[in-house]
Amino acid sequence: MIVYKFGGASVKDANAVKNIASIIKKSENTPMVVVISAMAKTTNALESLLDSFFYKKDDAIEKLNLIKEFHFEIAKELFDKNHAIFQELHNVFVEVEWQLEDDPIGTYDFEYDQMVGIGEQLSTKLVSAYLTQEGIHNKWLDARSLIRTDNSYRRAIVDWEVTEDQINALIVKPLKDSDIIITQGFVGSTSENFSSTLGREGSDFSAAILAACTNAKEVIIWKDVDGMLNADPKYFDKTVKLNNISYREAIELAYFGASVIHPKTIKPLQNKEIPLRVKSFINPDNKGTIINSDFSSDTLIPSYIHKPDQRLISISAKDFSFITEGNLSEIYACFSKHGVVISLMQNSAISFSVCVDEDSKLEQLIDELKNDFKVVYNKDLTLLTIRHYSEDLIHELIGKKKVLLEQKSRSTVRLVLGA
Ligand code: ASP
Ligand code: MG
Repeated sequence: MIVYKFGGASVKDANAVKNIASIIKKSENTPMVVVISAMAKTTNALESLLDSFFYKKDDAIEKLNLIKEFHFEIAKELFDKNHAIFQELHNVFVEVEWQLEDDPIGTYDFEYDQMVGIGEQLSTKLVSAYLTQEGIHNKWLDARSLIRTDNSYRRAIVDWEVTEDQINALIVKPLKDSDIIITQGFVGSTSENFSSTLGREGSDFSAAILAACTNAKEVIIWKDVDGMLNADPKYFDKTVKLNNISYREAIELAYFGASVIHPKTIKPLQNKEIPLRVKSFINPDNKGTIINSDFSSDTLIPSYIHKPDQRLISISAKDFSFITEGNLSEIYACFSKHGVVISLMQNSAISFSVCVDEDSKLEQLIDELKNDFKVVYNKDLTLLTIRHYSEDLIHELIGKKKVLLEQKSRSTVRLVLGA
């Protein structure tokens, strides 16, 4: 069994769907689970639709119509007008229309998971029908009957036991030699049969769950780049491809903010020693990057991760006294209550500094902290992480920018930079 994952860019239009079919066709004789994300920017469009619905703005139907049009246009390019796919897509949209007719019944996060996951329903139905039309026999499965989660909507936690049983019953046991299963990334379902989602970009994680539960030989994440690069070409000129990195290195890079793979993806694969390959759907013959237990190449190429829009917050006691463990636990509790994730932290005798992503939640957090502490901050900063650095490289990357905070370990340096 192999697991393929195709992200939004690989299903962005009719040609992209055709390209997926040609990639799948090449491995047609291997049993395969294919995990697919929503097409192009559909998830963003659905988030915006949810916003209109939840906050009762009057443009919800307009927004839904754009999503409909986008999918029907692609379907028209791929299928004859009498094809059953049009009815199938229509049925998915009808469910959303029902949801829009009523007032929201649950929290924002609950409503989000009932609505936003339909992008994956639409994309997988389209791809599955197209493969069938091309003579590639395949079976469409609803990921909600495979992946069981708790009800922490939008960041649902996988119930591995039930998930493994369900995947066994629906995929592993009935599997024949050349079966191709098409299913959705990102979504799962709760014990009460409500839809849940695994967090933005969670389809990589879905692929890892399916691979772990089927004991797959390999996972391939198909992307629009040739593999994992040592830096984001959006911010750096001279990027190089990493041919082979270890699971550990991949987790570290994802943790520090490299956006190539979802951070939760690696653990289930590492636990079962399933290699993960990141390959280009534009250049499928390029070897890509392989992530496995071999760490011999990890330190060969320095990687840099650039996180813009950071805020550095400094928290100290109002009366100049020491920051104690008691203070820290109070401060952590406050961050956790407001759902603010700390990217980096450092403390001195009298202050505790944290670097966080810019977010509207920060104002409430800071207001609350101000009840007990003195709080100052700097905005519009960048957090630069360099793995396997050299002093020369640090100087080159800092350039003329001001360093507000620096943290160094043997393998990693992290710098909070001003303009
Ligand atoms: N479609 C979802 C998103 O855009 C999940 C994914 O692509 O991994 O976040
Ligand atoms: Mg994606």
